[in-house]
Amino acid sequence: MADSPFLIVGGGIAGLSAGLGLARIGKSAHVLEKAPHFEEVGAGLQLGPNAVRALQYLGAWDAVAPHCVSPAEIQVRDGLSGNILQRIRLGAEFENRFGAPYRVAHRADLLNGLLESARSRPGIELQNNAEVADISITDTALTLKSGGTHAGQAIIAADGVHSMIRSRLMGQPPGNPIGHMLHRGLAPITSIPASVNVDAVTLWLCPGGHVVHYAVSNWRHFNIVAAVEHPEISLWTAFQGACQSLADILEQKIKWTKWPALDLAPAPIWSKNCTVLVGDAAHATLPYLAQGAAMALEDACVLSNTIQRTNELESAFRNFAESRFKRTGAIQKRSRQLGRIYHVAGVLRQARNAVLNATPKRSFTKQMSWIYDWQPEGK
Ligand SMILES: Cc1cc2nc3c(=O)[nH]c(=O)nc-3n(C[C@H](O)[C@H](O)[C@H](O)COP(=O)(O)OP(=O)(O)OC[C@H]3O[C@@H](n4cnc5c(N)ncnc54)[C@H](O)[C@@H]3O)c2cc1C
Repeated sequence: MADSPFLIVGGGIAGLSAGLGLARIGKSAHVLEKAPHFEEVGAGLQLGPNAVRALQYLGAWDAVAPHCVSPAEIQVRDGLSGNILQRIRLGAEFENRFGAPYRVAHRADLLNGLLESARSRPGIELQNNAEVADISITDTALTLKSGGTHAGQAIIAADGVHSMIRSRLMGQPPGNPIGHMLHRGLAPITSIPASVNVDAVTLWLCPGGHVVHYAVSNWRHFNIVAAVEHPEISLWTAFQGACQSLADILEQKIKWTKWPALDLAPAPIWSKNCTVLVGDAAHATLPYLAQGAAMALEDACVLSNTIQRTNELESAFRNFAESRFKRTGAIQKRSRQLGRIYHVAGVLRQARNAVLNATPKRSFTKQMSWIYDWQPEGK
């Protein structure tokens, strides 16, 4: 079995990047994706310096970078008053401090960059219309819904937050809804009113919800995500007290897609025998720290390094989970905590705003360094 491929279930960000990580160490991979095409639904992604560094390490950054937008700054604003509470410049100083840039991209542009890189590497087989219906952990084998079977030297489960393999492995129900609803929309950038700063990643904080927006697709589109604590109320009701600039954004005549916000409770066991979980299947997080995809990219780097360092796969997978659990668990917990802080009302809102106003820029850099300073091994 040692020369049979690694079977990767799921061809999203985690699955394709895991394939690239394996190619980097000369291992062959077979990526099985249930959808008829490799494609990303949804809209934008923020790629912090850690995500960019992982993409560089996996050899995919050159294919992704030309499609990214380089925003001038991050702005945190109060959604009722419109006041700017914090500004973080993302220019040369930021890049020098973290050794890699901060970019934003359409999810499809990230996935296409990973795909282009995977297609250019020997040893990565990509298969669509390949829904995995069942797995045998003892035999390291898969059965497809269409009836075919595959055996490999290992199974890498990159099948997302609703992972079938995770529930087989851990007997744990997938997904942990926080109850928030995410409304996602994409507007042509030409339709965005002049009152809106399209050159910034903007986070609006409102009682019971928040909104994030930024330009994507080489400045062609504007990505808007609104998180609402009470899923039963409409976007307009949730943000009815919004200041004019925020209301201008939410009144865009675009198709909004609703998406329940899900995460997983941190759990340390990600592997059994030669089957291992990666990406959202292992540690799905709320998007409030914008780090879910970044964690999947980091996983791919760490997994390939761990396999290279350890002769035996079962131990490699246990070591991988051990080395990733603390970090991904901290991201999951911090994302939940930020959801609470973003949505406070009344005196708590005033207190939060006062703290943000008084926080110097260097404190932001310090607060984010545990995330952005991540380096792949050997770098
Ligand atoms: C609104 C929102 C905003 C976000 N913003 C950011 C951000 O700014 N920055 C960031 O880093 N992250 C962000 N994230 C998180 C990020 O999108 C996810 O963490 C990331 O996409 C997870 O990738 P994945 O490959 O693990 O899972 P998925 O993207 O869910 O991919 C799983 C793949 O597996 C396939 N699959 C599932 N079951 C099977 C099966 N049985 N057989 C075969 N194939 C199967 C699916 O079709 C899919 O292609 C955001 C998430 C949301 C919801």
